[in-house]
Amino acid sequence: KNDPLEQWDRDHFLHPSTHLAEFARGNVAHRIVSGGEGSHIVDRNGTRLLDGFAGLYCVNVGYGRREIADAIAKQARELSYYHSYVGHGTEASVTLAHMILERAPANMSKVFFGLGGSDANETNIKLIWYMNNILGRPGKKKIISRWRGYHGSGLMSGSLTGLPLFHKAFDLPLAPILHTEAPYYYRRPNADMSEEAFSAWCASELEAMIQREGPDTIAAFWAEPVLGTGGIVPPPEGYWAAIQEVLDRHDILLVADEVITGFGRLGTMFGSDHYGMKPDVITIAKGLTSAYAPLSGSVLSEKVWKVLEQGTDEMGAIGHGWTYSAHPIGAAAGVANLKLIDELGLIDNAAEVGAHLRAGMRDALGEHPNVGDIRGEGMLCAVELVSDRESKEGFDPSRKVTVNAVAHLMENGVIGRAMPHSETIGFAPPFCLTRDEADEIVAKTAAAVKAVLG
Ligand code: PLP
Repeated sequence: KNDPLEQWDRDHFLHPSTHLAEFARGNVAHRIVSGGEGSHIVDRNGTRLLDGFAGLYCVNVGYGRREIADAIAKQARELSYYHSYVGHGTEASVTLAHMILERAPANMSKVFFGLGGSDANETNIKLIWYMNNILGRPGKKKIISRWRGYHGSGLMSGSLTGLPLFHKAFDLPLAPILHTEAPYYYRRPNADMSEEAFSAWCASELEAMIQREGPDTIAAFWAEPVLGTGGIVPPPEGYWAAIQEVLDRHDILLVADEVITGFGRLGTMFGSDHYGMKPDVITIAKGLTSAYAPLSGSVLSEKVWKVLEQGTDEMGAIGHGWTYSAHPIGAAAGVANLKLIDELGLIDNAAEVGAHLRAGMRDALGEHPNVGDIRGEGMLCAVELVSDRESKEGFDPSRKVTVNAVAHLMENGVIGRAMPHSETIGFAPPFCLTRDEADEIVAKTAAAVKAVLG
């Protein structure tokens, strides 16, 4: 109780994504985390928790990996920093760029490094606009993303995000960003629609928006292969093929935001390959370093690169870059992380244990009258709660059903996430999760749902 850190936290720390007034009133539980090993974290009070969310879908190889810690320490000793402007680089950053392209989908050509997913999406917007300027079509600037998409919380990346919480009070979205329907099959407009029919409907909504706005004004379509923060929603059958056809027909670029799905979360290296998407640009972050250090990337296709390459002859150096672009410590962490994922076969484990987790969840909760949907892909799992399975109606928000279920889960030693924009309990565990740990998540989730809803 007399821990000075708790007092300093209360007095001095402005926490992201937090109800600030409730925090100031002391109604937000503090947790100062001090250690981690494998799939578990430990806080200052000695409480050990099974982290069913890998931090924020990011500590993919698990906590306490000595190989990555050693690589970071070695890099800090040898060269803590050098910039990457005007042709400079470091051994770690050049090696990592090469390793990313070895793993990336076909036709990818270059990596620009940033720090987090939000700034990588800002970079991608600028590079696409730059490209269209070079091509003499500066009017092709609008970007279509999706309701329920999450792409960050900067001014442009927050505009791409399709969650009202990230718009209100910030005057977002900014003008060139539009939002189309989310491929949320469980909440389809008509219960009789097959997955394929719903996918065709989503594509027709996109087509209608493009026609309304004018195809010559739309630069890109922005999407996560699986909706993450918007509720952990995998696409219905046929979705990506239907969308890709519309984009190709109108010469609109596809930006795959693989901040969550990149480097194995779906049980395959990239979500784009998993679903047969043909992205022109890919956003990467989180799993690139398993969050051992901040690093993101914009992976550009040969098609985009070929235009950028031509353009600077006329315009001079590109006016974009950060001091910490390609920071060698992040790059060293990335190199060690990608090696470890391969050496330990963690992507296969993510596929196998993730499937076991969802199967267990279906066995334990599939018949519960308040469980509407259990879904996921790879090492992702979501349990959507409803007051009535027939009508799929939610609960009175004041009951805080999901928040209470997740609190119960936490009291019993497991971290899940009350997905902020639906009554959904989400899991995105580290790839090293064992079957026993998956079983523990299932048993405790079932107990939490029953404790809150009977
Ligand atoms: N894109 C996706 C798909 C994300 O899930 C996130 C973060 O959760 C971001 C972008 C933003 O990344 P960051 O929080 O590192 O800025």
